[in-house]
Amino acid sequence: MSEIDDVLKANEDFAGRFTLWHLSKRPTRRLAVLACMDARVNVEQALGLANGEAHIIRNAGAIVSGDALRSLVLSHHELGTREMMILGHTECGLLGLDDSELRTRLQRQFGPAEQPANFHGFSNLENSIREQMKKVKSHPWLRGRVVVRGFAYDVKTGALREVSGD
Ligand SMILES: [Zn+2]
Repeated sequence: MSEIDDVLKANEDFAGRFTLWHLSKRPTRRLAVLACMDARVNVEQALGLANGEAHIIRNAGAIVSGDALRSLVLSHHELGTREMMILGHTECGLLGLDDSELRTRLQRQFGPAEQPANFHGFSNLENSIREQMKKVKSHPWLRGRVVVRGFAYDVKTGALREVSGD
């Protein structure tokens, strides 16, 4: 059996016990979290969030990429969120990633590809989180409309550390 077959089995049990039919598509705590996809970070558990309470947007590195911005703009303007968290973490896979080395390697092995245009590797976690906050805060459609704060999650302790915006 594949892992996907296994999770389908788990979903049968989940759907059999399902009681969340009443939830609204508008997050009740008016919060959006952009977090890294790292498998060790369970955003809902770490932040005490229940279903329906917040948007959780995830990608490699918690990067405010074009697509993350698309989600954040929709989150605020269409679905009413007012606070946004950037949630990076220690030991991130993008920490120290050399974009051009990876691109060259993949290109050599599999040929050229237009997308992804960038892997967004970074050399300093705090600086990256700061940079992501800046992208949200300065976006013309979000600027001055949402509270933006950044945090580093420690994968060894589960604790959050706030990263100042400047
Ligand atoms: Zn990560």
